Amino acid sequence: MTTTETVDTVPTESTRPFFGHVIGNQEIGSIDGATFESVDPWGREPWADVALGTAADADAAVTAARTAFDEGPWPRMGFHERARLIHRLADLIEEHTDELAMADTRDMGKPITQARHDVARSAQNFRFFADHARLSVAETLPMDTGHHTYTRYEAAGVVVAIAPWNFPLMLETWKVAPALAWGNTVVLKPAEDTPTSATILARLAIEAGFPEGVFNVVHGYGPDSVGSALTEDTRVDRITFTGESGTGKVIGKVAAGNLTPVSLELGGKGANIVFADADLDNAVHWSVQAIFRNAGQVCLAGSRLFVAREIYDEFMERFVAAAQALVPADPKTEESAFGPLASQEHYDKVRGYLDSVEDEGGTIATGGAGEGLVIRPTIVTGLPLDAPHVTQEIFGPLVVVHPFDTEAEAVHLANDTPYGLNAMVFTENLHRAHRVSAQLDAGTVWVNCFFIRDLRAPFGGFGDSGVGREGGLFSRDFFTEPKAVVMQISTE
Ligand code: NAD
Repeated sequence: MTTTETVDTVPTESTRPFFGHVIGNQEIGSIDGATFESVDPWGREPWADVALGTAADADAAVTAARTAFDEGPWPRMGFHERARLIHRLADLIEEHTDELAMADTRDMGKPITQARHDVARSAQNFRFFADHARLSVAETLPMDTGHHTYTRYEAAGVVVAIAPWNFPLMLETWKVAPALAWGNTVVLKPAEDTPTSATILARLAIEAGFPEGVFNVVHGYGPDSVGSALTEDTRVDRITFTGESGTGKVIGKVAAGNLTPVSLELGGKGANIVFADADLDNAVHWSVQAIFRNAGQVCLAGSRLFVAREIYDEFMERFVAAAQALVPADPKTEESAFGPLASQEHYDKVRGYLDSVEDEGGTIATGGAGEGLVIRPTIVTGLPLDAPHVTQEIFGPLVVVHPFDTEAEAVHLANDTPYGLNAMVFTENLHRAHRVSAQLDAGTVWVNCFFIRDLRAPFGGFGDSGVGREGGLFSRDFFTEPKAVVMQISTE
């Protein structure tokens, strides 16, 4: 089947393209036939029909993955052969860049140029983890007793991956790629707002030659639906989740009840500290990217900006001008660098924060509501530090700015949050850069940059931003069962 054909198992009057579950290498509708619409948030028009799963569909997907793991070739294949298929999938992802990027853009309003960047990173996720697993080494421990201990990293089994809507394909593949490379089978549940690229990915996996049941996609809602059914299923060996901290706490409890290891990548409220000795052009450039890229719908957003008082006025003048230069435009067009929020529901949430800025004592330096589901790049000053805009994750293009006087104060302000996903530091002072990076309670600290990732590095958060780390060997450790084998070498 080509990726543009619709499946004929789903009778529908609609002329919109249909995106099914993919279970056991079959693209199918839901057992009860239900569908839902994916809405393009720029025009607020439904553009695709999607299979709406229930617990029964989740059960079928886990059954397929369990059978493929217990009886199929995938976990028994050599690393080399698995890597060959995974690289083939990466090739197909690159060949279908426009189709995949447009799926994410239509589902959630991300500018198409940014969506293409996400597709490239998705292919890279597969390439990196295929090679990382294939080239990995394991420890051998020579012992004084005449024994050797060596370590085997064995596939954990069935992995459930649950993803959010802000970087759909990129975050899904960040989970799926290492899980597959280490020999697991996978059930992916994409976010209900961004379902379509996952189905395309699964079609491509079939085309690449993946064996039946290795990679399955099931669509539907989270609580009391597909999401909870997947996390409660005792046939599942690992749960990897990215989403809100509140949802992570619910999933963490369910997983603990079954003793299922879980990796939680959760919300953020990133601090961005600009010291007086920063390169201001660079600091302004990355501060704009950090809060307005993807309309601020980024877990790693620099949503709390702390600026040294000596440069505050000059920085703000440039920062406001750069924010105003970002003109909202149809994300499907090449010139768009700033689109709408992903859904009406999310718009209403962000709009609530925007509308309460002045009641909480703040001033809007620039920004406000735009057309349709657009919130323009918004910079807010003067809010007390306990205002909800400062303490809660807004997940939109709204940044709160505060001046600071000393390095110690900047570090204190940055760490004064339950979240600890990431922070940014802008300074030309090398000693300060190292000193402050060490003091920040954050899983990633970017110095004079933002959003740069080495896939070998640990990724995750302190506090309410998550549990566990993924990336490189951290992904290996999560997606495998390490086993120690102790061998007698000498009988003397
Ligand atoms: P969300 O928690 O509402 O939903 C995420 C996924 O979980 C969706 O697929 C949803 O259907 C599913 N889900 C919801 N309730 C569930 C339940 N009870 N059981 C099982 N599944 C359930 O999050 P969202 O609104 O899609 O995403 C935005 C959030 O994700 C933000 O908080 C953001 O910071 C966070 N995020 C974190 C990272 C990271 O790497 N730390 C990356 C991107 C996004």
